[in-house]
Amino acid sequence: MNFEDKVVIVTGGTRGIGLEVVRSFVDSKAKVVLFGSKSETVSSAIEILKSENRDVLGFYPNLLDYSEVSSVIKDIYEKFGHIDILINNAGISSSEKIENVSSEDFAKIMDLNVGAMFNVTKAVVEYMKKQNKGVILNTSSMVSIYGQPSGVGYPASKFAVNGLTKSLARELAPFNIRVNAVAPGIIETDMVKKLPKEVIEPLIKTIPLGRIGKPSDIANAFLFLASDMASYITGVILQVDGAARN
Ligand code: NAD
Repeated sequence: MNFEDKVVIVTGGTRGIGLEVVRSFVDSKAKVVLFGSKSETVSSAIEILKSENRDVLGFYPNLLDYSEVSSVIKDIYEKFGHIDILINNAGISSSEKIENVSSEDFAKIMDLNVGAMFNVTKAVVEYMKKQNKGVILNTSSMVSIYGQPSGVGYPASKFAVNGLTKSLARELAPFNIRVNAVAPGIIETDMVKKLPKEVIEPLIKTIPLGRIGKPSDIANAFLFLASDMASYITGVILQVDGAARN
């Protein structure tokens, strides 16, 4: 894939799936800007990437604050003159049973997984509309198709991500902006390492391809959907899960 001269923003780009997505786009010659939640994690991701001979810019706007997000997006647009691809990847998960979930916990997960995605998307769409071109890709999850037997806020948020994806695909198609999502299965990252054994082991047994996914499996799907090879694809939720069903 060749993304020469394309400007790509990746939220949640400091580790896990997002960091691998950043690597893949840098290796495909894109100019990549990663977002993280704080200064230290953004700096350390930039250092890791620099040690691999990969150069990126990094910011840590509060994704829950639209004015902060839109001001950073404006700076990026003014620096490069265009924003070609947005990858909304930042997310948090949950695996608690409902009796242990407070309404604040529920709101927190919806705020980041859906509200932050809305904020970054809204800020970027302003410029993509001016360009009459753009690609927005969202990280959903396998649980957005099947639900999850605990941690209800997480699947609820990812169902909302799919709704946002499909609706904006239709709203923004006349402006030549494609909107798709990738729904990863179980991927080997910190988020999965934090899940209790009793949640993860039964999940692995359900994977017909017989393995947990790699962050690069997800990055490859993003590369494809961002590329012109996918120029007639919009509004899809692409499952990348080894046919896992939880
Ligand atoms: P991770 O915990 O390794 O990374 C999460 C990223 O989100 C980090 O870069 C972090 O900085 C960012 N983030 C978290 N809270 C934030 C906040 N308040 N503000 C800004 N950024 C914040 O997780 P991951 O597994 O790489 O997950 C990335 C995405 O993939 C998430 O949307 C997650 O729901 C989704 N996903 C992961 C899996 C999996 O198996 N790992 C499966 C399905 C979907």
